[in-house]
Amino acid sequence: MGKASGPWLEKLMSQLAEMFMAQIELAKPVPYPLPAFNPRRRRFFAHLIIDYLREIAGNVDFVVGLTDAELYSVHANSVICETHLQARSAVISVGCLKNFLFGERPEEVFYERLYKEILRAIGHMLGLPPCRNPRCVMYPSLSLYETDLKAPSFCPECEMKLKLRVGSIKFLE
Ligand SMILES: [Zn+2]
Repeated sequence: MGKASGPWLEKLMSQLAEMFMAQIELAKPVPYPLPAFNPRRRRFFAHLIIDYLREIAGNVDFVVGLTDAELYSVHANSVICETHLQARSAVISVGCLKNFLFGERPEEVFYERLYKEILRAIGHMLGLPPCRNPRCVMYPSLSLYETDLKAPSFCPECEMKLKLRVGSIKFLE
């Protein structure tokens, strides 16, 4: 959505496909849904975007939107990622993840953040609750600093929950 594409997209898709043994399709870019824009906050309302993505996604199990737009939610004035369990829909502000990059390979820091946020979004869409382990990808990091501290993987407890959940979820054929 908007200008959220990059050379990292292909790597991300193949890594996720391998991780979840899933078929991943890249949708055509879509414009921002203007009714979701709040001029006072100068941000988009994440929940409306999630509904919009689900509406246009068609017949897929899960939809994850990537956008360069800044987002807010009912809970926070600025959010990196918002998910909806029942709609199986999520949106991630890729632009936010580019803030405060560091090191010799900042593009790798960005990629790792994005990968972690997507894992967390998919985890939530599969029914995983937030995790209290600050190293686990399901930890609800409130800052990029906390995101950077997390490992790009599920802790053993979440991994176990995930396996149990996946077995009980109905997927499209
Ligand atoms: Zn965990």
